[in-house]
Amino acid sequence: MNKILCGVDIGGTKCSIALIDDNGKILDKIHTGAHVDKNEKGLVKMVAENIKEIFKRNDLQESDLPGIGMGCAGHIRFRDGVIITSSNLKGFKNYPLREAVQSYFKIPVILDNDANAQAFGEYKFGAGQGFDDMIFLTISTGIGAGIIINKKLYRGITGTAGEFGHMIVEPDSELTCTCGNRGCLMACACGMALPWLFEKKLKEGKKSKLNLPPDFIRSEINGQLLKKGLEMDDPVSKEIILDCGYYVGLGLYNIFQALNPPLIVLGGGLTNWGEFYLNKIKSTFYNLARDMIFDPIEITVSKISGDAGVIGAAALTLEEQG
Ligand SMILES: [Zn+2]
Repeated sequence: MNKILCGVDIGGTKCSIALIDDNGKILDKIHTGAHVDKNEKGLVKMVAENIKEIFKRNDLQESDLPGIGMGCAGHIRFRDGVIITSSNLKGFKNYPLREAVQSYFKIPVILDNDANAQAFGEYKFGAGQGFDDMIFLTISTGIGAGIIINKKLYRGITGTAGEFGHMIVEPDSELTCTCGNRGCLMACACGMALPWLFEKKLKEGKKSKLNLPPDFIRSEINGQLLKKGLEMDDPVSKEIILDCGYYVGLGLYNIFQALNPPLIVLGGGLTNWGEFYLNKIKSTFYNLARDMIFDPIEITVSKISGDAGVIGAAALTLEEQG
């Protein structure tokens, strides 16, 4: 029998529990939003019950699986399996989530940051196959990342290594990050920044072809809307996409100088902007790195679509711990 893996992705609005095969394909999935209003104990119980349910309906015993992998946004102390803080789960401060879920199961439970989980999923099942080292950067509402070195996640002392979203790319920026600093890559180039960037362009006197009504809620300006703008040849949307691409390219250059990886994979919703965006990222990167590149570096997009979070979480059970 092929190996079956179990992953849990705990997000801000949805929680997914899935079984995947050893090619990273989803075999069964439970999708719920019921965790949102639960306290710590309630969430743990719900997650454990859903895992047991998905095992039961697939005729699986715990011992058929190598473990249960969980991914969750936020700062996670990996060695202890503790959520230090999570913007998705209010109140989960210094909460030992791994131990709490582990109390329901005999097989090992692993907890890591969701971007680390996605990075490992990409390494095992996606664009990272065949590489020993790679960087994964996910660009959506926020920016997260994971570092694979010698076939394993590099986590740093706490487990928070690879927080490239908080790399400062514009110290004088007017944009303040969720962390409180100014000019983090995340503040300048993720989904959260788009409404502000749009407004700024309009204030500079630029005209958008999107013709948004005056009562349009600014916070609803998102990647999808700008993609529509790109398709309409809207100059404002295009400028914003190029600005975001520039900052991501700058970020990749800094990552290149720090780690010299052979592969950087970009994932997350904003990569749907396509070639126009990716070309700006790459041209910025190559202009900065110029003749300092001595071996090929591949910059590519994720091969794992919508379920990257839960697939990555399941993949964590394949990483050798210790
Ligand atoms: Zn920051």
